[in-house]
Amino acid sequence: MSLQERDKKHLWHPLKQHQLNPESLAIVQAKDCILTDEDGNEYIDAISSWYTCMYGHCNDYIIEATHKQMQRLDHVMFSDFTHEPAVKLSEELIKILPHNQNKIYFNDNGSTAVEAGIKMALQYYFNKDEKRSLFIAFEDGFHGDTFGAMSVSGLSVYNGPFEDFLINVKRIPVPNDSNTDSILQQLKTLVSNHKIAGFIYEPLIQGAAGMKTHDANGLNTILNFFKTRNILTIADEVMTGFGKTGKNFASDYLEAKPDIICLSKALTAGLLPMAITSCTQDIYEGFLSEDISKGFFHCHTYSANPVACAAAIAGIELLTSAKIQNNIQNIIKSHTDFKKRIQNHPKVKTTRHLGVIFALDLNTKMQRYGDLRDKLLKFFMDRGIFLRPLGNTIYIQPPYVITNAQLQKVYQTLEDVLDIV
Ligand SMILES: *Cc1c(COP(=O)(O)O)cnc(C)c1O
Repeated sequence: MSLQERDKKHLWHPLKQHQLNPESLAIVQAKDCILTDEDGNEYIDAISSWYTCMYGHCNDYIIEATHKQMQRLDHVMFSDFTHEPAVKLSEELIKILPHNQNKIYFNDNGSTAVEAGIKMALQYYFNKDEKRSLFIAFEDGFHGDTFGAMSVSGLSVYNGPFEDFLINVKRIPVPNDSNTDSILQQLKTLVSNHKIAGFIYEPLIQGAAGMKTHDANGLNTILNFFKTRNILTIADEVMTGFGKTGKNFASDYLEAKPDIICLSKALTAGLLPMAITSCTQDIYEGFLSEDISKGFFHCHTYSANPVACAAAIAGIELLTSAKIQNNIQNIIKSHTDFKKRIQNHPKVKTTRHLGVIFALDLNTKMQRYGDLRDKLLKFFMDRGIFLRPLGNTIYIQPPYVITNAQLQKVYQTLEDVLDIV
């Protein structure tokens, strides 16, 4: 029996209506940018398996670093103990994070990195005897699937069963050329009527919303507004972190730095699940007290897993290498050329790109998980490309190690798919 058949017996997949769509493709191998299925078909992983394996699948350098670590120290509790990989990772991360970040808190996925950020903000004020209970977030933001993260996410189509149980959130539109003043007006009203703990945002580009970009100046203005009102800002860089936008972090494009940053996905180079919530010294000090209960009592069993830390350290070494930085610039150049080639196509409504992320919106209306989307997905897979349309957006977010020939094949397939929509 094939893996695909055996899968159906006991497995329940995420983001899937099994009655309508029972099949899952069995992948047996991955190397660099190529996924191989159980029948031997190969696919270019043009979205880096959800923005994780940016240095390629089964990267030898990452494998060697983790293998060495496994033989020395596999895991130990991070409550009461520490170890070299965690210490070293904190040192290396602080070197590349926005300069106001000074403390590293470990989690194990993007949602819990956000969850910890939300709890840090709430308790920061609670510890000062201030009760603040409202968060502000962007419309159409995505921050994960645990309750806090789900609450601040604006893409709520699938949140129906849980809506009565979410924390209190008000939404603002993302800034564009012309709406910043009206957003500020809205914020002033919110601030005078509510006790606001924090503002959470995906900086410059909203991934799950369909790689939607917004205005950096406007975002700066919004962040500065929160700073003057003593409201914490939480940058969710789970998707944007580690070079995707052309800089190490999307926050590097902005003058106003966040108080808290959430990281995951490419953090461990696609090898192991791990996440981090970083923060400023000021936030950390807000938890120091003679009173034990003012400490941060949020913990995951596998916090700071040494092997995952080793993968992250090796990932940062690759990210900051001349070779990868060069690759990123080459991909940006190729995207710029492709945008010119395709932007006037009658089926294309808009195109945009930021760093290695390229997206185009089709003129056609497409449902997030509808028939046309399935048809396009199949078209790409038949052509040996793994791309995953989001609504009527098709986007590319290739590993930094994609070859030019592979990237050109992805572009060509994207151009060809326009004939069938
Ligand atoms: C993927 C993602 C998350 C959630 O991360 P998980 O590891 O899937 O829980 C949160 N925020 C953003 C911006 C993401 O892209």
